[in-house]
Amino acid sequence: MEELKPITFAELNLDPQILRAVEDEGYTVPTPIQAKAIPLVLAGRDIMAMAQTGTGKTAAFTLPLLQMLLPHASSSASPARHPIRALILAPTRELAIQVEESVETYSAHVPLRSTVVFGGIDIKTQKPALMKGVEVLVATPGRLLDHVESRNLQLNQVQVLILDEADRMLDMGFMPDLKRILALLPKQRQTLLFSATFSEEIKKLAQEFLKNPEVVEVARRNTTAETVKQSIYLVEQANKHAILADLIRSRGVAQVLVFTRTKIAAGRLARALEREGILADAIHGDKSQQERLKALDAFKEGKITVLVATDVAARGLDIDDLPLVVNYELPSNAEDYVHRIGRTGRAGASGEAISLVDGAEEKMLLEIEKLLKRSFERERPAVSSTPPRTHSSRPANRAPHASSHSPTTHSVTHTNRASKKTAKDDWFDKPYEPASNTPVVEPQASLMSRKPNKPVAALLGGLGIKR
Ligand code: AMP
Repeated sequence: MEELKPITFAELNLDPQILRAVEDEGYTVPTPIQAKAIPLVLAGRDIMAMAQTGTGKTAAFTLPLLQMLLPHASSSASPARHPIRALILAPTRELAIQVEESVETYSAHVPLRSTVVFGGIDIKTQKPALMKGVEVLVATPGRLLDHVESRNLQLNQVQVLILDEADRMLDMGFMPDLKRILALLPKQRQTLLFSATFSEEIKKLAQEFLKNPEVVEVARRNTTAETVKQSIYLVEQANKHAILADLIRSRGVAQVLVFTRTKIAAGRLARALEREGILADAIHGDKSQQERLKALDAFKEGKITVLVATDVAARGLDIDDLPLVVNYELPSNAEDYVHRIGRTGRAGASGEAISLVDGAEEKMLLEIEKLLKRSFERERPAVSSTPPRTHSSRPANRAPHASSHSPTTHSVTHTNRASKKTAKDDWFDKPYEPASNTPVVEPQASLMSRKPNKPVAALLGGLGIKR
């Protein structure tokens, strides 16, 4: 079969100022979803795109959106010159923040304005930006309706509506809110729907609100990126924490995302790693929104090395160049394995995923292999000694070659002999102590105004539906 030549950004008919922002980001070629969606959006088509986080979907809708809004770009200070022309709806605050950061990034060289509104913070703090006028508004559905009720904004000039992660919006019960919002928008508009899955419900939504949509599909579900090296380490549960600490030290990686099955295990593991001198924090459903954002920000900024997450807390999590994902415990749902390891090896970058599997998890591993239609080699890491406990708050793995700081090395053998049991960590037998609820000073406000130096594309979602 004839191989198609990959399309370049230059061939996409985007303005040089938009291309400049793309170049600033270091993107060289469009991802498959971008190559497919951008020409269709520019042609004015409604699209129904099946794309997961990590495929480059945000740029797939933002770049053509900016291009279409360019004729309306204005440096006038008058709010009347900046009506909302594009509305992007996202299910969670984290995703909304993330998308708006991308809009800001890609519009760096064009005079188009954007802002984001989401629940959980004082609505008054969001009013001034709306009053000044913005062409692109990113919003969670509930808070958008609050602003409509408070007459802080008008939606009668919206030309383009984007529904991002539409499946999650429906999962989270936003259908009634969506219907109310759609009723407020001009009938004559372009609608772009992005969803990780095409359920019957999504198809119904598209039928109702999209006009003759072009269906765009990229990477199949239940496939794992070829760029991710996946390893299975057979270990005993009691040794997992020592092996993980060892792994982090010996590799000297700057960022590691670690998954546990339960909130309790996530909290405990983060604390145990901290006791080892490895800076870590956990995100899970028992943490407040502020705590989760704070942990995520610390991880993005490199202030902590390890972020321990549960599956729900990590939905949609996206961090640029994440080198290593560790499954401290395998997920009970095989599909979650695909989601987890999709956090590395994004947009063609190489990544590594290591799963620490004990005997009781063998069944889950078989389920994963069945889903992926492949079998993994089982490896056995040998831990020569339990890593030393340093009670200092300094991260033991900050140095570029952290292995030289640690007397412990781990090697991997491919035999089937049971590994020697290392000392069990009594810490894990202690009762769970919830994290302290230290109040954090307005992290959302800082997030709203913050423009990251680098597009640290990190977000998490599926965490709550509070407005
Ligand atoms: P998304 O699927 O929109 O969450 O994007 C996933 C990641 O891919 C983000 O970190 C983007 O910065 C990055 N990205 C988007 N488009 C490209 C591209 N064409 N080349 C390289 N990275 C990209």
